Amino acid sequence: MSGTLYLCATPIGNLGDISARCLEIFNEADIVACEDTRRTLQLLNHFEIHKPLTSYHEHNKKEKGSYLISLLNEGKNVVLVSDAGTPAISDPGEDLVALCIENGINITSVPGPVAAINALILSGLPTSRFSFEGFLSVNNRHRHEHLASVKNDTRTLIFYEAPHKLKSTLSDMTKAFGENRRIALARELTKLHEEILRMTLGEAVSYYEENSPRGEYVLVIEGASEAVQEEESWWDNLSVTEHIDKLIENGMDKKSAIKQCATDRNMPKRDVYNIYHQE
Ligand code: SAM
Repeated sequence: MSGTLYLCATPIGNLGDISARCLEIFNEADIVACEDTRRTLQLLNHFEIHKPLTSYHEHNKKEKGSYLISLLNEGKNVVLVSDAGTPAISDPGEDLVALCIENGINITSVPGPVAAINALILSGLPTSRFSFEGFLSVNNRHRHEHLASVKNDTRTLIFYEAPHKLKSTLSDMTKAFGENRRIALARELTKLHEEILRMTLGEAVSYYEENSPRGEYVLVIEGASEAVQEEESWWDNLSVTEHIDKLIENGMDKKSAIKQCATDRNMPKRDVYNIYHQE
């Protein structure tokens, strides 16, 4: 019988947040797969747990995925952790999960901290409907497309960001969403210097002109209001074809422009495609 892959959440800063069940599963596991072995070794040493570690990250996930599947097929129990928080959220864990499903291997989770959810509940913004957006791409065109695709989303938006990219991200977000959108910047969650700044996007840009970003950030952004959506549709007076041509002129490829146009207008993509190719 094959073993089980345990997706174990670990603390995002405060070691006191480790769960009793997580420690139990660590103790029972045959091997722990982690993004950075040095970091996970520190965590295990702190709890006096001694287990073999193996790295599983973006750059070795293909070979290591096959290796871990072979261990699981031999009946070994594997724990997967990320550097912090819940594995498979903005890390390659999602690929290992898909591989296990493909290979008929049992998977279970040991829940715990997730930076995105803690930032959301502390933000003061609506929590009933939200969209997790992860990291923005470093590629300019992809960033622009990503932000344009959620500009009219009325749900609260959650992004991850590293401190050295925060200023440019805030500036791009302000251009895409306008400076009046509310934002909560959740920094160093569960750590000594935890801080939640609640302001508008315009104020956040000014704040970080004076203050250096420090630590890890989750950005929680108010969704578009229906009124803003009505007022700010730049394509209102354009035909579908003109709308797509404008997006292409701004740097999108044809396929993405058709998709974006369909999202903007809340129309089926096939209809937009047909109109564009008929006109
Ligand atoms: N798997 C993790 C989780 O469950 O949240 C996220 C991993 S992702 C690679 C790392 C990002 O999560 C950081 O760049 C930051 O945006 C966010 N993050 C992680 N720990 C955080 C903390 N203590 N405070 C604020 N943001 C944090």
